[in-house]
Amino acid sequence: MTALNTGLLFLLGAVLGSFANVCIWRLPRRESIVWPPSHCPLCREKLKPWHMVPIFSWFLLRGKCAYCGGGISLRYPLVEAATAAVFAAIGYAWGLSALSLQYCILSLALIISIGTDLSHREIPDQVSLGASAVLAFLALILGRWGNLLGGVLLFGILFLIAVLSKGGMGGGDIKLALAIGLGLGWRLGLLALALAVLTGGVVSVVMLLMGQRKKALPFAPFLAAGAWLAMFLGERLLDLYISVVFMLSTW
Ligand SMILES: [Zn+2]
Repeated sequence: MTALNTGLLFLLGAVLGSFANVCIWRLPRRESIVWPPSHCPLCREKLKPWHMVPIFSWFLLRGKCAYCGGGISLRYPLVEAATAAVFAAIGYAWGLSALSLQYCILSLALIISIGTDLSHREIPDQVSLGASAVLAFLALILGRWGNLLGGVLLFGILFLIAVLSKGGMGGGDIKLALAIGLGLGWRLGLLALALAVLTGGVVSVVMLLMGQRKKALPFAPFLAAGAWLAMFLGERLLDLYISVVFMLSTW
């Protein structure tokens, strides 16, 4: 069953990864994600179904448009492969469950947010608030109050940081944190936030030391890294943390 679940979610992830690519390109450009159908952004020619097979087509076309020969970014197969890999890992760990559904919705939102944050320094509301609405609805019908609490907590904490730092945290980040809290629940959500701040801080310091004094880093990739670390390793990390604290307190 595990192999079947893993394979099924891999395929679903590859297809939704392709959808994520559409969102990453079109949402920051204020274009509809359903119309017009997929086309080459250079020559505007409409793509045939075999040009759109996730991961596979890019290699088949050797990274070039079949009509005009224009280069197709490596981002396309990378996003598709990454989404497929994350979904497969979720299927492997939790099978076809409600938890997997929550984690897949959150992961898809995270992947699109990384893409748009890196390309346009924005996280579209359709992604962060859209995922939040679906995750809040799921938490309500499943009676997972810890997830609702997680959403409120993460949103509140980032909102407070934004107020105190006078805009050091963007509105998009706050709304994405809401989705992370709703998807992971309050324990793993808080851990995800701590890991995001930690990894973001380390990378900022390293970049400063290397003389890369650019403007503030986009935060979505760190929020996503924290969320996935908490999702896949969180329970083990929390157990480890609790046992260390316990050891120190009895020492
Ligand atoms: Zn073309």
